[in-house]
Order: sequence, then C-alpha cells, then structure tokens
Amino acid sequence: MSEPTEPLAYEVAVVGGGPAGLTTALYTTRLGHRTAVFEKEGGRHAAVDHVHNLLGVSETVSGEELAAHAVEQLEHYGGDFYPDAVESVSQLDGGGDGPRFRLEAVHSTVDADRIVFATGFRDRSPEVPGLERFTGRGLHYCLHCDAYTLGDGSVFVLGHTESAAHVAMTMCNFTDDVDLLLNDREPEWDDETAARLEAHPVDRIDTAVVSADADESIDADEPPWLGGLSFADGTERDYLGGFAMYGSAYNADLAAELGCELADDGAIAVDENRQTSVEGVSAVGDVTHGQNQTTIAIGDGAYAGLAIHKDLRTFLKSLDELEGDGDGDENALEESVPGSRSDLRAQMRRVRELRTHPGLREPSPGRQ
Ligand SMILES: Cc1cc2nc3c(=O)[nH]c(=O)nc-3n(C[C@H](O)[C@H](O)[C@H](O)COP(=O)(O)OP(=O)(O)OC[C@H]3O[C@@H](n4cnc5c(N)ncnc54)[C@H](O)[C@@H]3O)c2cc1C
Repeated sequence: MSEPTEPLAYEVAVVGGGPAGLTTALYTTRLGHRTAVFEKEGGRHAAVDHVHNLLGVSETVSGEELAAHAVEQLEHYGGDFYPDAVESVSQLDGGGDGPRFRLEAVHSTVDADRIVFATGFRDRSPEVPGLERFTGRGLHYCLHCDAYTLGDGSVFVLGHTESAAHVAMTMCNFTDDVDLLLNDREPEWDDETAARLEAHPVDRIDTAVVSADADESIDADEPPWLGGLSFADGTERDYLGGFAMYGSAYNADLAAELGCELADDGAIAVDENRQTSVEGVSAVGDVTHGQNQTTIAIGDGAYAGLAIHKDLRTFLKSLDELEGDGDGDENALEESVPGSRSDLRAQMRRVRELRTHPGLREPSPGRQ
C-alpha cells in the first residue's frame, strides 16, 4: 500500500478564477510566490458575451476568452491552475510561523500560507419563462456595461424594488423609451421614489410577463437576440433589451465558515488592502462589494497581490531586524536570500530566455 502523500504546499491559494482571482494570482506569481488558482466553471465573467469598458481589449472578446487567456498568462509565469471546485478551507496550526491553511477541492487538496477568496456573486434571475437564454443578448444586469449597448432603443427594466426604480429613471439618460415591468409584484419603493418615478418619462407596467421571444430578423446561424416580451393581458412589446433587477447573492459561504466577517448585505468585509478579518485571508472582486465591473475586480486583484507580497517577504529588512538576524547564527541572513523558491526563479530565467510572452490574441475564429 502506498504511503499517504502530503498535500502540495503553496504560498498563495486563490479560490475563484474570474478577473479578480486571476489578477491576484498573476501578481503573486510574478512577484515570486508559488501560487495556485482553483476555479469551478461558471461565474459572472463567463456570462459576458462582449467585454466592455476594458481599456485596450477588443469588445469582440468574451469573458470566457479573457479568462482563458489569463490562465495561459498565469501558467506561462509559473502559476498553477486547478479546474476544481473548492469545498472547504480550514486553518492549520502554523507552528508559530504565521497562518497556514488547508484547501480541499473535489479532486485535490493543497496547503497554503495565504488564502484569497475571489468567488464572485450570483445575479438572481427574473421569473420570466424563456428570458434567461438571452443573457448578454438583450437581458443584462449591469447598467455601466450595457446602457450604451441599448442607447436610443426601446428598453425595459424588470423589478419592483428601489434599485429597479432607480435603474429605470437612470436609463432616461440613454433613451426616451423606458418601461418599468413589475411582473405582477407589489412595488417596494418608498413614497419619495414613487413621486420621482411619476415625474420621470418611465412607463410602469404592472401585469405579469409570460414569455420572451427572439428577434426574428437575426440570421438563424447567429446566437439569438431578444426581440420582445409578451404579457398576461395578451399584449406584446418589442424591446432592444433591458435589465433584470432582482438583487444578487454573494458566494461568501466558504469565507464565512473560515470566520471572515461579512458586511450587512452579505459581501465579505475587507480593508483597503483587501484583507479580511481573518489573518492571512484576503478577498477580492464582486464578492466584496458587488461593484459589478471587470476593471474594478482586476484592480482589487492587483491591490491584494501587492499586499500579500509585502506581507510574505522579509526583504528589505530594518536595521533592527538585521541586528537580530546576526543573533547567534551568522549564516541565517545569507540562507534566506533569495526569497523566491528555486523553481520559480528557474521559470523567471526560462521566460526571460524565451524573449516572448503571451500577448492578447485575436478572439476565437468565428466569433461575431
Ligand atoms: C451578463 C454580464 C455582462 C457583463 N458585462 C460586463 C462588461 O461588459 N464589462 C465589465 O467591466 N463588467 C461586466 N460584467 C461584470 C463582470 O463580469 C464582473 O464584475 C466580473 O466578472 C467580476 O469578477 P470576479 O472575479 O470578482 O467574479 P466572477 O467573474 O464571478 O468570478 C468568480 C469565480 O469564482 C468561481 N468560484 C466560486 N466559488 C468557487 C469555489 N467554491 N471553487 C472554485 N471556484 C469558485 C466561479 O466559478 C467564478 O468563475 C458583466 C456581468 C454580467 C453578468
């Protein structure tokens, strides 16, 4: 019988391979830390058909293509990518050398000095039969990403809450044809919002929405785009697209089980370095604020990567520390140089010798 093997040891383990987690991992890998990213399929980035507002990246690139490219970048520099769903993260006894964690996924177990949660959130779907298949193609969740896409068109906002009312009024910046669809629910906004809505050029429609239909003018070999909605009173309306505003649920369970504090809305609470209330645990991207933007998730990832590097490495040292290092062991300082593990330093040399790196390529052939 073979001996049980020790879990692989990493300095940094990231849960979630969307823009936030992959950015943290790219930073920590290129700053010389052995890093692993775990990703179960899905996430909000995977629902993005065309990535908007990302400087220098063509909007013909999808969220999945962006992530696939980022994984290639990560592996090129020596990071590890596990297509595996994390089931638990627990504290180990660090033996006085700082925090230590065990991460168990469906197919693998690793240990790490630092954990980063980049698990995102889930949009709550509208209860309209047949509408979800138009996600990113007529059904949208992010005003900052897609108001421009729908500008000057006929637009709906589905929902009955304050935020639905606010999005409907805000869409008046982009078009004069906005319907607020309550889908047979009672409004939950306050009197002031009701009065403001009344004064905005927004049509309120209370009746249930019973089906969503494709735009017939789009070629059958292209992915369908929403054409319109049908209502319980027998009416039909053409729409270029719209927004569903039913809130979201943060994927914060693993962090909460580890003891990380959550904010009132369920997001993981972090400080300016994206550090949570548990030492050695960071959180980045949508799971920390629901800001709903790829660029913001990427920025969070960079902040966390830099902070983790400063936290894990001991150089540069203060005079006090240098005097302490000489205490009884003259070789101690030399032995801790250089800080990065030898396999990563070897990869640094290899990448340098290649004189190339994975620059952003064209989108996959055949994309619209
Ligand atoms: C339809 C749509 C269109 C959008 N369009 C744009 C746009 O044009 N421009 C823009 O800037 N933003 C856009 N956004 C927002 C953008 O997608 C998000 O802000 C961004 O993806 C957030 O990145 P993230 O890494 O924080 O989370 P996510 O992209 O959601 O990634 C989180 C990842 O964590 C993984 N995960 C969760 N739990 C586990 C686990 N237990 N184990 C392993 N992995 C786990 C998930 O599989 C997921 O891949 C859009 C969003 C949607 C839904």
